Amino acid sequence: MNKAFDDREGWIWMNGSFIPWRNATIPIVTQGLHYASTVFEGERAYNGKIFKSLEHTKRLFRSAEIIGMKIPFSESEIEQAKKDLISKMDFKNCYVRPVVWRGSQQMGLSTSNADINVAIAAWDDWHSYFNEQDRLDGLTLITSPWRKPAPDTAPYEAKASGPYIICTMSKQFAENKGYKDALMLDYRGYVAEGTGANIFFIKGDNIHTPIPDCFLNGITRQAVIEIVKNKGFKLIEKHILPEEIDQYDEAFLTGTAAEITPIKSIDKIEYNVGNNTTGYELIKDFTNLVNSSL
Ligand code: PMP
Repeated sequence: MNKAFDDREGWIWMNGSFIPWRNATIPIVTQGLHYASTVFEGERAYNGKIFKSLEHTKRLFRSAEIIGMKIPFSESEIEQAKKDLISKMDFKNCYVRPVVWRGSQQMGLSTSNADINVAIAAWDDWHSYFNEQDRLDGLTLITSPWRKPAPDTAPYEAKASGPYIICTMSKQFAENKGYKDALMLDYRGYVAEGTGANIFFIKGDNIHTPIPDCFLNGITRQAVIEIVKNKGFKLIEKHILPEEIDQYDEAFLTGTAAEITPIKSIDKIEYNVGNNTTGYELIKDFTNLVNSSL
């Protein structure tokens, strides 16, 4: 069990200054908390350096822009703040969470006078989104009854808090039934992703992954696509129907928190996991990549 997040040592970067962790709080009446005017990032530092840091910062700004918020800092100020925070916290390997939200200046749905706030926290006890044993054994997934909405229903390219309630409900559904995660289908019924990570399937030298046309095109997903192409696999992005997923030998999730995590089963379909799999090889390649991007 992780330590609670409200009572920790250390610092949080908030609106331009470092504030002792426990003092970095927000008022109860905050627009972003009630009406979901919030975007965020999830990043991971290896050996003191964030993997694809600028890509994450750019996505944060793009997410804010999509939901109509102008971040009152520059990209380079946020880049610097992340670096300073990691060194002030004395972390080498950690998870980094920038968050942007509309504050307490104005309440309700009108946002014309809203204040925009930015904070960054970092913690070093999320070694993986899934625990070590799950990463060795592979995850068990169940198909969620909740679906990814259509692109004209939710801002799918933004890492915005609002749509995450669908992921949260799916995760709860899975855990309540004894599974580790949920497979989410999209509004058309195609396979989309896990609750907080993208999905890949392997059959021999072919690696298939859904087209990110209504869910986040993860930064890890893009890095893994590059790895598999460089290794000579045939990478195909396509719409995948749930009826097709029993044809694959292996499956895995990718994400900043999840890194590459093998999947043992989806509903009643079983996949290969372990030392002799392609997934295992890719985990080693990914580990080399994140540790060599210095
Ligand atoms: N999909 C969802 C819903 C996510 O929350 C994440 C994690 N940010 C991803 C995919 C993977 O994105 P990334 O590789 O950029 O972390």
